[in-house]
Amino acid sequence: MKVPKEINVYCPRCKKHSLHSVSLYKKGKERALAIGARRHEREKHGYGGQKWPELKRTAKTTKKQLLKLKCKECNYTIYRLGIRLRKLQFEA
Ligand SMILES: [Zn+2]
Repeated sequence: MKVPKEINVYCPRCKKHSLHSVSLYKKGKERALAIGARRHEREKHGYGGQKWPELKRTAKTTKKQLLKLKCKECNYTIYRLGIRLRKLQFEA
């Protein structure tokens, strides 16, 4: 699917339609010292190591692509609900 780089949509902070730059949401780096990560690391020791089943291969062939829209006037970011796509392309 082709997506324009800039679209005119409603900004909740400006309370009007304004130009937004469009980019793709990317998951941030997971913190190694988060409580869940530390607990999992501890529980992996000993007999019966892994806590939850390891995913060998995914059933899905596509990924949900979440769009990030940033207001050019106030820099407020809104997220568009992700839809399943094989390929996402930004138009020039
Ligand atoms: Zn705005």
